[in-house]
Amino acid sequence: MSDSMQNNYFKMVYQPLVSLGSGKLVGFESLVRCQSPRFGIVGPDEFIPHVEQSGMILELGDWIFEQCLSDLKHMRQFGMTDIAVSLNISPVQILDGDVFSKVMSLLEKHQIPPQAIKVELTETALIHSPDKIAKAFENFHKEGVKVWIDDFGTGYASLGLLRQFDIDGLKIDRSFVSGIATNNEDFTLCSAIIAMAQRLGLQTVAEGIEENEQLQILEQLGCDIAQGYLLDKPQTLTKSIDTWAL
Ligand code: C2E
Ligand code: CA
Ligand code: CA
Ligand code: CA
Repeated sequence: MSDSMQNNYFKMVYQPLVSLGSGKLVGFESLVRCQSPRFGIVGPDEFIPHVEQSGMILELGDWIFEQCLSDLKHMRQFGMTDIAVSLNISPVQILDGDVFSKVMSLLEKHQIPPQAIKVELTETALIHSPDKIAKAFENFHKEGVKVWIDDFGTGYASLGLLRQFDIDGLKIDRSFVSGIATNNEDFTLCSAIIAMAQRLGLQTVAEGIEENEQLQILEQLGCDIAQGYLLDKPQTLTKSIDTWAL
């Protein structure tokens, strides 16, 4: 694994998150890519489950965080000091690795304030080991690192868990967002999630927005932040800075 990381098999790309109220850039989600000489570009949906099972996610996760924070430092040098980069964390990194201490020491190393990053954990991951996850969330929260529940609505976590954890926001899964303009059930689900989040004081991100109509509906429903190909596809660090830095 170390070799493949050194040989640049892995790289990070960044997808913008835009405020639906102001249209301003609020941050980027970091997404990992694998360029295999044999198989070409392989998406994380394909390889993350394997590296999680083999335990190699701990080493890959360390590499990802280091890369993201050093990239964030570049973004900040280009004037993007009021944005936050979101890190996807694997539940394995919470259960078998000390993800909180690692992230905090990287922030210190790169002299980056905690508000400049966010962490995302999928709803499905919540049910595995709620106590350990609650502790990690509490630690992040206390230090000012915002915690987001990813792919909200697709897991089987009970709504009661939202009360149990220190969380700041919900990311509405693309499977609901893509049908919002055409399918009544999807529209109802999105509007119910947004309304519930507002009552609980949580922010919302809608992911996978591909069409203007979807964006407009989400804005009317009071969703806070938009993400999707309509705004931009995930891009390299250089392209992200070119496109989004003032
Ligand atoms: P995710 O966290 O739900 O990430 C969003 C996925 O949706 C990304 O796929 C992104 O490229 C894609 N996407 C964004 N906008 C659109 C759109 O408008 N239309 C469509 N069709 N797709 C869109 P990606 O990069 O293939 O990542 C897949 C999953 O792999 C992620 O889902 C996340 O769960 C996992 N992943 C990605 N990067 C990392 C990482 O660094 N660490 C960990 N642990 N998991 C990661
Ligand atoms: Ca995510
Ligand atoms: Ca997601
Ligand atoms: Ca997803």
